[in-house]
Amino acid sequence: MASYFDEHNCEPTDPQEQYRRNALLELARTLINFEDGPLDFADWDQGLPPPAAKDTVKNLLSVVISPAQADKGLKCPICLLEFEEGETVKKMPCEHCFHSACILPWLGKTNSCPLCRYELLTDNEEYEEYKKEKDRRQQREHRLENLHGAMYT
Ligand SMILES: [Zn+2]
Ligand SMILES: [Zn+2]
Repeated sequence: MASYFDEHNCEPTDPQEQYRRNALLELARTLINFEDGPLDFADWDQGLPPPAAKDTVKNLLSVVISPAQADKGLKCPICLLEFEEGETVKKMPCEHCFHSACILPWLGKTNSCPLCRYELLTDNEEYEEYKKEKDRRQQREHRLENLHGAMYT
């Protein structure tokens, strides 16, 4: 699995992807300051998915920042403060690390990593269904694209 640093050193080249990622991080930062901000997304296609499942959040790994990580100036992507050696932080399954005070309020609003949008499981059955349907739709579109490619090349 790619380490945090590998990922961190290669910024996405697609400007739109970069924009979306920045927008998510911006939102995450706003959330720390406005616990009950004006976030009300009914439509998951437009907005944020529902909060991460409580059990999943409870079981997030806690890791202690190593001297090497502190030396490299590893930062919390949300508040942009450098982690201190020996500090205990939360590690997402995607390997991204955050202060628990930063990531927990975020995961109380939505289920994805604000840095890479890795999605955690949610407690929302409707959303889990929606996610499966979305996967199916994407696979279908992918097949159509391949078919289209095969026909016109
Ligand atoms: Zn932080
Ligand atoms: Zn991530």
